[in-house]
Amino acid sequence: MGFKSKARKARGESGKSEGQKRRRKELGDGEKPCCIKGCDKWADKSHGGRSIAFDNLADVWDEDDLVGEGRRLAICKPCYRHYKKEKKEDESQTW
Ligand SMILES: [Zn+2]
Repeated sequence: MGFKSKARKARGESGKSEGQKRRRKELGDGEKPCCIKGCDKWADKSHGGRSIAFDNLADVWDEDDLVGEGRRLAICKPCYRHYKKEKKEDESQTW
């Protein structure tokens, strides 16, 4: 419950912020940490995180670098961007 209302609040406040809070913590703490080893960012949806199937992640990172359980793991936004980039390059190599 608290999760959703938090995201809504952040949206409604656009235009009101003056940039003085534009630091790392602008979104507050998340609930889901990124599953990539060594990454300490949040993978919550409100933080731009995504959940990706383990198999797909294993194409980009070593399995040893994936921390988490289950078929899908949550990754943060920067990691997702990296993932997407790697995947794209992968696809463009078909010939
Ligand atoms: Zn990450």
